[in-house]
Amino acid sequence: MAGTKIEWTDFAWNPFGGCSEISPGCGTHAPHRSHGLCYAAVFASRELHLQHAGVAKGGQWTGHFTISSEAVWQAPFKWPRGKLVFTCSMSDFWHESVPLDWLAEALDVIGRTPHLTYQVLTKRPGLIARKLAELKMELPANVWLGFTMGHKRSLAGLKPLLNVEAPNLRFLSCEPLMTELPKLDLRDRIGWVIGGGQSGRGNLAVTNPDWMRKLRDNCVGDDAPFFLKQWGNWVSNPTPREDELDALAKGGATLDGRLWREFPG
Ligand code: SF4
Repeated sequence: MAGTKIEWTDFAWNPFGGCSEISPGCGTHAPHRSHGLCYAAVFASRELHLQHAGVAKGGQWTGHFTISSEAVWQAPFKWPRGKLVFTCSMSDFWHESVPLDWLAEALDVIGRTPHLTYQVLTKRPGLIARKLAELKMELPANVWLGFTMGHKRSLAGLKPLLNVEAPNLRFLSCEPLMTELPKLDLRDRIGWVIGGGQSGRGNLAVTNPDWMRKLRDNCVGDDAPFFLKQWGNWVSNPTPREDELDALAKGGATLDGRLWREFPG
């Protein structure tokens, strides 16, 4: 594993691969399906991640999980101090089918590389406490614990995220933001929020800019750093294309005349 183009991180680390779709946010080709095709499954199907050959075919997960090579497991020990590591871009760290011994080993590597900060983002926050209890382990202090919540149907996952003993910050990824979210109480509970639209091909969800403004205002009001990754498609972006400051991001990334690229302080 190496550097990544994802704007809010430095490295992607995939000690294992494989997943199954669980929430509206899993799809890149929604909304005519309740769940679209997962970006990672599409990637794995194209064999762009050779470590994970067989975990997906034709853009669909097969139900198989693969553990990565020793070189992948050892990579974090060589990465420079202070870097952010998106953990499991090709899986869901807390997926019910990930064997406990893989999880134990991954948490052990994380704990032994305190010079890095691991962004562990899940769509299964309800499983975190149970898995940690089964492992008889605590989260290492260098974990940012994240939950993808870009649809009002996912709101129920917030409570279990907040109930996990998190020695470091909790964060939300509202990407893709597929519906308006209610005003959230973020203060002293959520230390970072990522927003974004849906990218990919086909029938993309269009994020209403007012939903994004409401999320940003929620963050500003509750002192939570806000990071707008990208609109995903130009239809969602309220900024005229010619005025866009970051045309490199998919669909641009400006909201009300500026980029929002805040990180936890
Ligand atoms: S949880 Fe993540 S990796 Fe798994 S299917 Fe959903 S988007 Fe894909």
